[in-house]
Amino acid sequence: MTAAHRLDGRVVAAEIDARTTDDVARLTAAGIVPTLAVVVPTHDEGTAWYVRSIARAGKRLGITCLVDTLHGADAATLAGHLKARSADPAVHGVICQTPLPAGVTLADLGTAIAPVKDVDGANPTSLGLLATGSAEAFAPATAQAVLEILRHEQVPLAGRRVVVVGRSTVVGKPAALLLLAEHATVTVCHSRSTDLPALCREADVLVAAVGRPGLIGVDHVRPGAVVVDVGTNPTPDGGLAGDVDPAVAAVAGALTPVPGGVGPVTTALLHRHTALAAARASGR
Ligand code: NAP
Repeated sequence: MTAAHRLDGRVVAAEIDARTTDDVARLTAAGIVPTLAVVVPTHDEGTAWYVRSIARAGKRLGITCLVDTLHGADAATLAGHLKARSADPAVHGVICQTPLPAGVTLADLGTAIAPVKDVDGANPTSLGLLATGSAEAFAPATAQAVLEILRHEQVPLAGRRVVVVGRSTVVGKPAALLLLAEHATVTVCHSRSTDLPALCREADVLVAAVGRPGLIGVDHVRPGAVVVDVGTNPTPDGGLAGDVDPAVAAVAGALTPVPGGVGPVTTALLHRHTALAAARASGR
């Protein structure tokens, strides 16, 4: 059996970065330095690694990243800080990292980020704008990364069956909305879905956004289907595993690797959104 085509997120990220670099050059020539504020409310190794990679990519692209460490802050403090960053004219994008402190939910914080600076789509207003098809909305970067990879590979979506496994507000739901806007016929599955393998086997395109390593096995995938693995599950050896069992590569037509699939595209889109937010704010 032939191995699935590898959908390399690094290639897609490089193309997005090239457009961001052009925009940043135009903005900095006009005296505007696109700036992203990253609020980190808890200590978590995975998050710390991710934030360092955001800052590194920002440096390469000419985007300033302000990392605000507020470990253990309560909901009111975090919301106040996000509001202050949103009100700062020198800041163009604001994101809040997960995990959040115990007892704090994204619903407590999302509205504290102004929609025009909500470059990771955390404010419910952004999700509403996305649902109504507004071009003003910034989609959550990970959800948009799924679509960017499929677009880059010219995977047909109109009229095709897409199954999204996972219904979180940050990944599954917005990914489903974006795919619906591309005229796909979208099914969203979750932990209460019955006979998940049979539902998944209906998919021309299968998106796994669950957080359970290897949940999606060979019996979930129709031969030749395109599979996008959003899962990033830490492994005991310090690596990352996806939600898709590696054996699926023998059945799928195409598959994103973990790492090196959705992750790099997500980071590229955060910076792309920040540059776009800076361009919109300055009218350039
Ligand atoms: P989440 O909020 O925990 O949501 C997980 C979803 O999966 C929920 O909708 C849950 O259903 C569903 N689910 C759980 N167990 C299931 C099962 N056995 N069968 C079917 N569905 C099941 O997670 P998330 O924030 O969306 O993240 C999902 C994954 O993506 C994680 O691995 C995360 O680390 C990764 N991620 C990657 C990136 C990236 O840049 N690559 C960014 C963000 C997240 P219920 O709603 O019924 O509970």
